Amino acid sequence: MRAFRYERAVDTWDAVGKFRHGTAYLGGGTNLVDLMRLGVAEPDRLVDVSRLPHDQIEETADGGLRVGAAVRNSDLAAHPLVRERYPMLARAVLAGASGQVRNMATVGGNLLQRTRCTYFQDPSMPCNKRVPRSGCPAVSEDHKNLAILGHSAGSAVECVATHPSDMAVALTALDARVHSSGPGGTRVIPMPGLHRLPGSEPGRDTVLEPGELITAVELPPPPAGRSTYRKVRERASFAFALVSVAALLDVADDGTVRTCRVAVGGVAHVPWRAFSAERAMAGVQATAASFRRAAEEELRNAVPLERNRYKVTLARNLIAASLEELVP
Ligand SMILES: Cc1cc2nc3c(=O)[nH]c(=O)nc-3n(C[C@H](O)[C@H](O)[C@H](O)COP(=O)(O)OP(=O)(O)OC[C@H]3O[C@@H](n4cnc5c(N)ncnc54)[C@H](O)[C@@H]3O)c2cc1C
Ligand code: SF4
Repeated sequence: MRAFRYERAVDTWDAVGKFRHGTAYLGGGTNLVDLMRLGVAEPDRLVDVSRLPHDQIEETADGGLRVGAAVRNSDLAAHPLVRERYPMLARAVLAGASGQVRNMATVGGNLLQRTRCTYFQDPSMPCNKRVPRSGCPAVSEDHKNLAILGHSAGSAVECVATHPSDMAVALTALDARVHSSGPGGTRVIPMPGLHRLPGSEPGRDTVLEPGELITAVELPPPPAGRSTYRKVRERASFAFALVSVAALLDVADDGTVRTCRVAVGGVAHVPWRAFSAERAMAGVQATAASFRRAAEEELRNAVPLERNRYKVTLARNLIAASLEELVP
């Protein structure tokens, strides 16, 4: 591992002021330190933001919640207001990693964790995300767990990586807003909107600029209806999603859908908001057949690779089953 300096920031602007080329913010370190050990990340300075006063979960004036970026994943999942008002989020967080990792991992770090594509994590291999225009072996080799939507296979700068966070999928379905502070000032970034598709710059996972620090995530008031988070993975714990679904459904007394929200994990470079499925569900009867049609609508744009075609079927079935679970 390359030598680096370690500094602890005392507040937001101290952290931003300490940032310069070669610096990385350190949350719980559960992803960044692994990548440093592997030689994938080589910052020469770490600015520790895990002890900034961003460790509170507070109610907002409009009935939502403001979650500080330094809140640990375990504390988020266990918070009574999160469990009561946003059960989908608590379930998503608990579906990720292990108890020990969740005790360390922060909300900010979870959103910005990097892809688990095996070539990205191996500096001896080419990878367009790690080394611009070096190539993407995943497209012709191991892409079993990688993207079926929104990827850039076949383009000049290929990348078929997926975003690994479970929490981000739930936050995307909940229309969360990310608060940040950086050299350019403060701003609020809607989800979806924080993460980006690979396009011609697969190295950029998000729209954040260098030095931009996530300070909080704001949840709007809890939407009416029932919600769930389902995750399909290779093992029952300690495994990333092959496909996951965060779904919310509000059904009127006459059986028609008032609100339907769906976000899908494990299928794209971003937590994928299933807008086509949502449009297909607007005002229709909440039946197994309509859920199935909506899921098919969403997957119509899928471009699977040779060895991840199974994800199209899996995502379609998981969207439909998740919505069916929510019918009162
Ligand atoms: C064995 C294992 C299994 C796992 N399984 C899952 C899983 O199933 N699902 C899942 O979702 N996750 C899983 N994880 C990932 C885990 O959730 C992440 O490692 C963790 O959430 C990252 O949070 P952190 O605070 O430790 O981030 P760090 O490792 O400290 O940082 C991650 C990135 O975010 C940046 N950063 C951190 N905080 C901020 C901030 N406030 N503002 C701007 N940038 C910031 C860092 O510079 C770095 O680039 C697993 C991890 C391990 C080790
Ligand atoms: S899929 Fe993306 S992260 Fe994986 S090897 Fe290709 S460019 Fe790198």
